[in-house]
Amino acid sequence: MHFTDRINRIQISPTAAVIAAAEQLKAKGVDIADFGPGEPDFPTPDHIKQAAIKAINENKTKYTPTPGVMPLRDAICSWHKRELGSSYEPKECVTNVGGKHSIFNVISVLVQSGDEVIVPAPYWVSYPDIVKYTGATPAVVETRAEDGFAVRAADVAKVITPRTKLLILDSPSNPTGGVTPPEECAKLLDLCKKHNIWLMGDECYSHFTYGDNKPFSVASLPDSKNHVIIIGSMSKTFAMTGWRLGYTLAPAELISATVKLQSQSTSNPTSIAQYAALAAMTGPMDSVPAMLAEYAKRRRRIVDGLNAIPGITCGEPGGAFYVFPNVSARLGTGPDALAKDCSELAALLLEKAHVALVSGAAFGAPGYLRISYATSIERIEEGLRRIAKFFSRAAAA
Ligand code: PLP
Repeated sequence: MHFTDRINRIQISPTAAVIAAAEQLKAKGVDIADFGPGEPDFPTPDHIKQAAIKAINENKTKYTPTPGVMPLRDAICSWHKRELGSSYEPKECVTNVGGKHSIFNVISVLVQSGDEVIVPAPYWVSYPDIVKYTGATPAVVETRAEDGFAVRAADVAKVITPRTKLLILDSPSNPTGGVTPPEECAKLLDLCKKHNIWLMGDECYSHFTYGDNKPFSVASLPDSKNHVIIIGSMSKTFAMTGWRLGYTLAPAELISATVKLQSQSTSNPTSIAQYAALAAMTGPMDSVPAMLAEYAKRRRRIVDGLNAIPGITCGEPGGAFYVFPNVSARLGTGPDALAKDCSELAALLLEKAHVALVSGAAFGAPGYLRISYATSIERIEEGLRRIAKFFSRAAAA
């Protein structure tokens, strides 16, 4: 079979591949300590579920306007203003079928062959492939573990060319949990303004921050509107991954272009999910700090547990629900090596230790592993035991 060049330029999401491999083993009855999925293990809060049931009972089950119903777009703008200090109106807001769809739409309308998009690494797996799908080129800029994986304007400046159209800022980040501090975000915005580049802030994990880090949006920076695009999602903040509801906030002209694309592809996000999201945006937020408190406990346990294993170095992430340990001390061909690279190590951990996690190579960071701690403390303990055993047994072998 022959497919288009654009589909041949991309690969299946590596995180989806890990989830599929783990599921296969689970189906055979194998007990997997599953650190693979990037989704909350909490249920969707009850008032959100009830709003969806009500929408069904009231027959709100028909097409809606392509960008979403007006009360939802209005509520997203109000929520974002209240929670993150922006000032958008509904004409500057479109709802999409998840944040990934928002990103796909925005990148599709803004870049094409010959353009470059700056993608800080370690990066979320979908950014480079969505960029490649449009024909544009990802320009990768490294962030550093010893700097908490913050995106630094001085590093970004080095990869800007006349072809650069967009900078992606994912903070808190998947896969590292890294947070880029507000003062650095201001520097990034200045840089984007100077070079006439869009700054796309992916805020999927905005409300999962630890310690001194607080939810922050680049849209709260003064005079930012004409240069900033905000990507938001119900998935993580409200434990709604399966509902598929995300949104884009940006200047009205750009929103209209994404609505045009959406009108010829998915049309509106599911009507029922829109009413659930409306309840999320207007209802109580107490589930969010409750989840955050639980994630904070798990983060503490997993960071300490990993650092106690010889050959693993794990920094303390500022946000999200991932840790990104460096395992390079146990890779290669030396006497202590467990595997030749982190992809082989991830495969061995699944096969031999029944621990599912994702190789750092998938995120442009060889030598690392991504571990999602969106799982119970008991499963974290079990997973840590298995990783420790695998590391010690292999060392002795
Ligand atoms: N952005 C980042 C950084 C993510 O990690 C994810 C999901 O894992 C998304 C966007 C997309 O989430 P969704 O499409 O479920 O809204």
